[in-house]
Amino acid sequence: MSESRVAVVGAGFGGLAAALRLQSAGIPTVLLERRDRPGGRAYVYEQDGFRFDAGPTVVTARNCIDELFALRGKATEDYVELLPVQPFYRLVWPDGITLEYNADADSVAEAIRQISPADADGYKRFLAYSAATFENGYLKLGTVPFQDPWSMIRRIPLLAGLKAYRSAYDVVASYMKDPHLRQAFSFQSLLIGGNPFKVSAIYTLIHALEREWGVHFPRGGTHSLVLALAKRFQELGGELRLNTPVTELRERNGRITEVATADGRSVPVRAVVSNADVMHTYASLLKGTARGQAMARTLARKRYSMSLFVVHFGLKRQHPGLAHHSVLFGPRYKELLEDIFERGVLAEDFSIYLHNPTASDQSLAPPGQAGFYALTPVPHLGKAAIDWSVEGPKLAERMLTALERTVLPGLRQDLVTQRIFTPSDFASELNAHLGSAFSLEPVLTQSAFFRVHNRDDRIGNLYFVGAGTHPGAGIPGVVGSAKATAGLMLQDLGVV
Ligand SMILES: Cc1cc2nc3c(=O)[nH]c(=O)nc-3n(C[C@H](O)[C@H](O)[C@H](O)COP(=O)(O)OP(=O)(O)OC[C@H]3O[C@@H](n4cnc5c(N)ncnc54)[C@H](O)[C@@H]3O)c2cc1C
Repeated sequence: MSESRVAVVGAGFGGLAAALRLQSAGIPTVLLERRDRPGGRAYVYEQDGFRFDAGPTVVTARNCIDELFALRGKATEDYVELLPVQPFYRLVWPDGITLEYNADADSVAEAIRQISPADADGYKRFLAYSAATFENGYLKLGTVPFQDPWSMIRRIPLLAGLKAYRSAYDVVASYMKDPHLRQAFSFQSLLIGGNPFKVSAIYTLIHALEREWGVHFPRGGTHSLVLALAKRFQELGGELRLNTPVTELRERNGRITEVATADGRSVPVRAVVSNADVMHTYASLLKGTARGQAMARTLARKRYSMSLFVVHFGLKRQHPGLAHHSVLFGPRYKELLEDIFERGVLAEDFSIYLHNPTASDQSLAPPGQAGFYALTPVPHLGKAAIDWSVEGPKLAERMLTALERTVLPGLRQDLVTQRIFTPSDFASELNAHLGSAFSLEPVLTQSAFFRVHNRDDRIGNLYFVGAGTHPGAGIPGVVGSAKATAGLMLQDLGVV
């Protein structure tokens, strides 16, 4: 057995989970992260006394986190408290209709009856469908690698039985007629970068997943969960190197032998796991290799998920009636999504996800104050070459105006701090190809076997975790990818 270590490139949720799994299995692991903090998309900003989570805020499938701490006999609660969030979401439409939902099917059906009496039964039937996709799509396939065509072909009957060839929106629409409800139970795929009109109906599993394990928020913010994972990794003897951009994966005879970093050092390795963007890994870190160039050409032809525009802001007072998670739908749904995913238009109208973490944890803002973030999906840089240094501040103004008019009256006068994060920042801060927020778009033709493989087909000791590999984006997705990848690696390294 070689003495050299495994290197994980990038400390996003996927990289942290993979590193923790490897280190827990007794494989010496070094985690190399280019930024000054771990977390990747789950970074944190501290500004004027506010703690702003940069990315994920809706923590579903807590079981996948619990599993990581349990690997060597610990509990999540030993490191971080996960607070249950109720309702899961409050949904608000411009015509004044609102809907809150949680895991209580009867009360949700009753709320649905108030909006559209005929759809309450349809919702119950939809729950059965969503539970079946969860059972088969998530529990059976979410943490196993798809390395060869047969792994896909033998699942075709299963996928066909689940109507995987239909879109999430189509299937929801077959159960519920009211347009608000069709939006309410299809928008969730946007949280992993999928257009509800294009993404496979399999992704309606997200609703069942929310119901199964609830929605949680880590006390201290999502970043405290990141720090908990990093701490556990280090306690087990793993090394985390921050401010350490990887510049090259050096290949010899079909294997990576060394990982070079920007400080001029290099780490001899027995295997590498890349949690960095898949295009960045092949096109940049492996640019001197035939494999890197070939895969970069292949990946250039793929579809990438949309980007996001985020405004973080602090107010000098709280809004006690406001839910932790709200979605404010705009006047258009399908057409707006086409502007974003197909036409590459930065529209005048938008839908907003509003994060109000002080609803669960007041420690994230100075006493009596409240920090928020408002997020809206926008085209990625390959669809629309927008100068975000010009358009970003304008879009932020329009979003704040919309929030002041609807759920945050008095916002301007209470505003104490503000910052924005644009598609250009995804590209420059995270090396995200085209500034995509979720990597490869999760359409059926880019899923499972058709996604970047958990182990490269040519370079036998190069592995992937994170949004660009199977199963895909979102915390449960990338943590699941780490389970699939670490499982392969432990076999390959002869540990199991
Ligand atoms: C604004 C936003 C909100 C979201 N909300 C939710 C949510 O509520 N719930 C949910 O489940 N999911 C949500 N998601 C999706 C989820 O956050 C991501 O899919 C997931 O966190 C991505 O994890 P990852 O493992 O792919 O790594 P990433 O977070 O992409 O991290 C990759 C890491 O690699 C590092 N890196 C890149 N290149 C190099 C290099 N050359 N050398 C060293 N390091 C490098 C980067 O700095 C980064 O730290 C959201 C995403 C965004 C952007």
